[in-house]
Amino acid sequence: MPIGEFELIERYLSRLGAQRDDVVLGVGDDAALLRPPPGLELVLATDTIVEGEHFPAGMAPADIGHRVLAVNLSDLAAMGAEPAWALLALTLSRADPEWMREFASGLHEIARQHGVALVGGDTTAGPFTATVAIAGFVPPGQALRRSGARPGDEIWVSGTPGDAAAGLQVLLGQLDAPADVLEPLQQKFRRPEPRIGLGLVLRGIASACIDISDGLAGDLGKLCAASGVGGDIDSTLLPRSAAMRGAMDPEAARRVALAGGDDYELLFTLPPGTDAAALERAAGVAITRIGLVVEGTGVAVDGEPVEREIGHGFDHFR
Ligand code: ADP
Ligand code: MG
Repeated sequence: MPIGEFELIERYLSRLGAQRDDVVLGVGDDAALLRPPPGLELVLATDTIVEGEHFPAGMAPADIGHRVLAVNLSDLAAMGAEPAWALLALTLSRADPEWMREFASGLHEIARQHGVALVGGDTTAGPFTATVAIAGFVPPGQALRRSGARPGDEIWVSGTPGDAAAGLQVLLGQLDAPADVLEPLQQKFRRPEPRIGLGLVLRGIASACIDISDGLAGDLGKLCAASGVGGDIDSTLLPRSAAMRGAMDPEAARRVALAGGDDYELLFTLPPGTDAAALERAAGVAITRIGLVVEGTGVAVDGEPVEREIGHGFDHFR
């Protein structure tokens, strides 16, 4: 039985995520009241997910709840920020309590995991979209930016980019392989893991950082443009998961690693001589050197400028 907007909010969204002492007043009033830690810089980001555009229609509601926070957490990770509070603007075609319960549980789980409290939002009727606005903190001057890469820096990436795009192909029934090969890929698309811990350890060390949402090569292009440098990728260095080896031939895997989206891994540059093994241990996630920052502009893969369709990444208006 459908329920009303206010009941929906009260029942499923009013105590969602971590309980934090710095929330003076959360869901329920006209606005949230928060107590930012003195002396820290506030980091804000917002991201919307649209059914059919960012995830296939019919995806499990808990996965959608996970995703809408994960994509926002990933932006904070790329800045080296520690997440704290989130707002959620939801547009729903109908108020289905069962759907809402599962959506809220997926959202709650990842919010708790990262210490994020849901402090407010807005709920409206219409074609489904979910927007989170997230806030976090960083010590003054220590945020990671896209703009600090210098020629001679090494280009590094976390995880195994391409898996999520392959996982989307699995969900859409476009990739065929044994189930034990396909399952981890699907999981990477359904439950992206924002690299908050890695972002924190990269503070004061990485010269530039971006999260990969639209494809490695395209997002590297953005980092390079912001830094006023070029980037050379050696595709033989691209990390490949065991699942990917089983699911795709090397050329298809190379392409999807460079052009596929939705990884939410971090792509960053390290000055030469950085102790990457220590970083990896501190972050608890695998990182791989894939190339070099050079003088000039644009991204090259194995010496060739990246093809147009790879190099620009995903663009909603093209
Ligand atoms: P107003 O009309 O004053 O904007 P609303 O009726 O929209 O208030 O919201 C009532 C309370 O519920 C507010 O505290 C708001 O932040 C919260 N809220 C509304 N929608 C959501 C949502 N999707 N997620 C979290 N909190 C929400
Ligand atoms: Mg409102």
